[in-house]
Amino acid sequence: MTRRFALMLDPVAADEQRDDYTDTFTAVDAAAPALSVGELSTQRGDGVFESIGVVDGHAQEVVPHLERLAHSARLCDLPAPNLEQWRQAVQHAAARLEAGESVIKLILSRGVEHGPTPTAWVTAAPAADFSAVRREGVKVVTLDRGYDLGAAERAPWLLLGAKTLSYAVNMAALREAQRRGADDAVFLSSDGFVLEAPTASLILRFGDRFTTPAPNGGILHGTTQLSVYEHLSARGFDVGYDRIPAADLTAADAAWLVSSVRLAAPVTAVDGTPLPVDLALTDELNAYLLSPRD
Ligand code: PLP
Repeated sequence: MTRRFALMLDPVAADEQRDDYTDTFTAVDAAAPALSVGELSTQRGDGVFESIGVVDGHAQEVVPHLERLAHSARLCDLPAPNLEQWRQAVQHAAARLEAGESVIKLILSRGVEHGPTPTAWVTAAPAADFSAVRREGVKVVTLDRGYDLGAAERAPWLLLGAKTLSYAVNMAALREAQRRGADDAVFLSSDGFVLEAPTASLILRFGDRFTTPAPNGGILHGTTQLSVYEHLSARGFDVGYDRIPAADLTAADAAWLVSSVRLAAPVTAVDGTPLPVDLALTDELNAYLLSPRD
């Protein structure tokens, strides 16, 4: 059992079928050099990725993550990933992790300048301890994302619905949130609608109805949000996708930022205005998100 490692994948065409892809994986120590200096993911952020939560060796929601990887690859004109090869790589990595929470990342890059293309690898590492933030929550500030809700459709080259490796803007938004005394951010469209957090989806509660921004305005469709909606629907709650005006944020009865590794973090304040926190439901959501999910 190892705690931190990578598997380099020899990419197999999407339509090639084999029973066993193990011989296309090469294990490398996470501290060992593995990428070429001509690698376009490191030079330009030109590639796509996924982060999958692993709990006690069980990789969560693998298929939705693989489908989103394929969707991101399509938007970026990258070769379609062979999903069975990636699925086996995830299982191979998960089986080598110790008990507790870990994270497996899938990276599909444009490849090496003037060299082999694409490049693909999987990393596995222990997850940070998010138990405190799952209980104590996050204060958020709203930040302008700089495009309107129509931008994704009008300008597909902005790759707004793809989970690309170009996360410098997302990381800058988190630093700006901290400069403003908050823990996290919620992006707003330039026409005043709620989008998502830099590394999470947002779910709001109004009475017995739960809502999240519709994932067609240039945001990612979160696998955790989908999973939470399945749980809430089974509990008899009404769930939906809406255009949510920024002003609605502070009117919510509760709100959460949800993502694959941190899971559900209750929002305790928006731009300095406190929001009610439903501790019991938050605990229930995190217990559900920590249970094995396929
Ligand atoms: N939105 C953005 C921009 C993200 O980076 C993430 C997570 O990585 C999410 C939403 C939530 O997605 P998921 O629940 O699949 O982790």
